[in-house]
Amino acid sequence: TVGMIALDDQRQMTVGTSTSGLFMKHPGRTGDSPLPGAGYYADSHIGAAAATGLGEDLMKQPLSYEIVRLMGTGLSPQAACDQVVYPFIKELRARFGKAGEFSYVAMNNAGQWGIATNVEFTFAVGDDQHQPQVYIAYPN
Ligand code: ASP
Repeated sequence: TVGMIALDDQRQMTVGTSTSGLFMKHPGRTGDSPLPGAGYYADSHIGAAAATGLGEDLMKQPLSYEIVRLMGTGLSPQAACDQVVYPFIKELRARFGKAGEFSYVAMNNAGQWGIATNVEFTFAVGDDQHQPQVYIAYPN
C-alpha cells in the first residue's frame, strides 16, 4: 500500500491509499486500504492517518480513526501513534499468538507527523520549502 497524507495552505487535509492488496489473495478479498477508519482517516480540524501492512489485522480495529481522534484530544501525531499501535500489537500477540507486519503514519493540521511500525519501514516527508526527505523507521 502507498498511503499519502496532504496538508494544504488552508489547513485542509486529505488522505489516500492505493494498494494491490496482498500477494496470492483470494479473489474478492477487500483489505483495509479502502475502509475509512481502518486504512485511512482524515479530519481537517485535527489531522489524518493511514495504514499499510497486513489488512487482516488492520481491519480488526479502526486505528486510523483512533489515531486521529487522539490527536484531537491534544496528543502529538507521534504520541497518538505510539498510544494506539503498540498496545494493538501486544493485544494481537496475546489473543492470536502473532501480529502481522504493519505501519501507521499520521500528520496533524500543523504539519507535525508521527509513525509507528513493527517492521522496518521507509517513508518520506516533504513540504513547500523542502524536497521530500526519506526516513527509515524501526519497531519500538
Ligand atoms: N494493507 C493492504 C491489504 O491488506 C496490503 C499492503 O499494505 O500491502 O490489502
